[in-house]
Amino acid sequence: MAIVVQKYGGSSVADLEKLSKVADWVVATKRAGHSVVVVVSAMGKTTDELLSLAQRAAETGGGGNSPPRRELDMLLSVGERTSMALLSIAVQARGEPAVSLTGSQSGIITNDRHFDARIIEVRPHRIEDELYHGKIVIVAGYQGMSYRREITTLGRGGSDTTAVALSAALSAERCEIYSDVDGVYSADPRSVPDARHLPELDFATMQEMAESGAKVLHARAVEWAKRQNIAILARKTEDYATRGEGLQTRVHASSGTQARAVVVDRHLALLSCPARALASLFAAAEASELLLRDGVYVDGALRATLALSAVPSAAATLRSLAERVPGLEITTGVGSVSWVGVGAGAEPLELARFAQSVGERPLLTFTSPLRATAILPQSELGAAEAALHAQL
Ligand code: ADP
Ligand code: ASP
Ligand code: MG
Repeated sequence: MAIVVQKYGGSSVADLEKLSKVADWVVATKRAGHSVVVVVSAMGKTTDELLSLAQRAAETGGGGNSPPRRELDMLLSVGERTSMALLSIAVQARGEPAVSLTGSQSGIITNDRHFDARIIEVRPHRIEDELYHGKIVIVAGYQGMSYRREITTLGRGGSDTTAVALSAALSAERCEIYSDVDGVYSADPRSVPDARHLPELDFATMQEMAESGAKVLHARAVEWAKRQNIAILARKTEDYATRGEGLQTRVHASSGTQARAVVVDRHLALLSCPARALASLFAAAEASELLLRDGVYVDGALRATLALSAVPSAAATLRSLAERVPGLEITTGVGSVSWVGVGAGAEPLELARFAQSVGERPLLTFTSPLRATAILPQSELGAAEAALHAQL
C-alpha cells in the first residue's frame, strides 16, 4: 500500500476537540486504502510554555542563568510525546490499530547540537514493521536522538522536517503538511490581508523564504525536500473534509513560475564587531552555538544578524556575548523585511522596487540572487512590509 505522511502542527492539535477531528481524518485516510504515518507537533503553545518554565527554573539560582541546552531538549521533547500518545489513544478508540513512537524509536538520528540539531540519518525499520502489521504510526515531531544516544530537538518549527525526512526514508507517495493556513502566500496573511495564494512554489524560493523568517514551513524541511526531491503539499487542517477542492501549495523541484514573496522576521539582533575582536566573537558564537547571518565587513567592522527565535534564552545569551567580546555593539528591537524570489536581489528593476519601498529607513541592507533584505527597527517593519507587498 502507498504510504502517506501527514504532519499536523500545534494549532491543529491544540485541544482534545481538534485532536479528535485529526483522529477522524487519519482513520479516514487509512480506510481509503493507505498506509498512514502521522507526525504531530506539541499541543498549541506547549513548547513556549515549557521553555518559559525552564527559564524560570534557571533563574531560581539567581545571576541571570540560562537552562543547559541538553536539559531543554529533555523537557521540550515531552510536548510532542503528549500529543502523539493522545492521538494514538484517540485513533485506537475509533477501532483502528495505532502505535505512537518517539523520534528515537522512529530512527531519527541527529548530530549532537542540542536545541537545534540536524537530522543526519533516518533508520525507519520500526515504523516499516508497524506499518506492515497494519498499524497507523504516530510519530513525535521535532525530536531525534544523537549518535551519542542523547535526546535532541530539531529547532523551532522542526516537526515539518521530521515529516519530510520520514517521507524520503519511507519513499512515501505524499507528504502533507497541515497547519492553520491553506498553503504559502506572497506574504504572511495574518499581517498582509491581500496576500496572494501561491499554488506552486520551487524549493529554492521556499527555502529562502523560510530562512528569512516565514515560519509556514521549516527551512530544513525544505532543504531536505530539495535534496531528496520530495514534493511538499501545504494545506489547512480544517480543509481536510473538502480535500481536493480547498487551496493548497505544492512545493516542488521546479514550478516554472516567478513567485515573489515578502517575508518579515521580527526578532533579530544586529551585531557590529570591530576587527580586533573578531576571533573572540567567533569563539563565543561557537561556544553558545549561535549562527550569524548576512555578515558584511565594512569600515573595519563586521556587521551580522542573529535570529533570536533560534536562541533558547536570548537575553542571557546576548549578555554573555557582550561580556566576552570587547567592543561588540548589539542592537536589539530590530527585524528584517525581505523580498524573495528568483532574481529578487539581483535584477535592477527588482532592486529599484525594493529600494523605493524601504526608503532610507534601513540600518543595513543585503542582497543575494534570491533575496534583498533590509534591517529595520521593529516599529517600521509593518509599513515596509505593506509598501513592498504593494509592489507585487
Ligand atoms: P504549525 O504550528 O502548524 O507548524 P506555523 O505557525 O508554524 O504552523 O505556520 C503557519 C503560520 O505561518 C501561519 O499562521 C502564518 O501566520 C505564518 N506565515 C508566515 N508567512 C507565511 C506565508 N508567506 N504564507 C503562509 N503563512 C505564513
Ligand atoms: N513544537 C515545536 C515548536 O513549537 C515544533 C513544531 O511545532 O514544529 O517549535
Ligand atoms: Mg510550524
